[in-house]
Amino acid sequence: MRITVDLDRCESHGQCVFAAPEIFAFDDDRIVHDAAPPESLRERAETAAALCPLRAVTVTDAE
Ligand code: SF4
Repeated sequence: MRITVDLDRCESHGQCVFAAPEIFAFDDDRIVHDAAPPESLRERAETAAALCPLRAVTVTDAE
């Protein structure tokens, strides 16, 4: 699984951090994330992507 965050869209409201704190975190006011989390976190990752109001989170399959 691969996760990308479009930082041009992200406005740091933090829904992703609340939905999946294993993947997303704040570093000062910026979002940082694990770009290749384990498959066991897919449901949480997809929830975070769905909750992001700016549609800045993308979850794809690893190659
Ligand atoms: S939910 Fe979306 S807009 Fe909010 S901090 Fe996360 S990536 Fe940024």
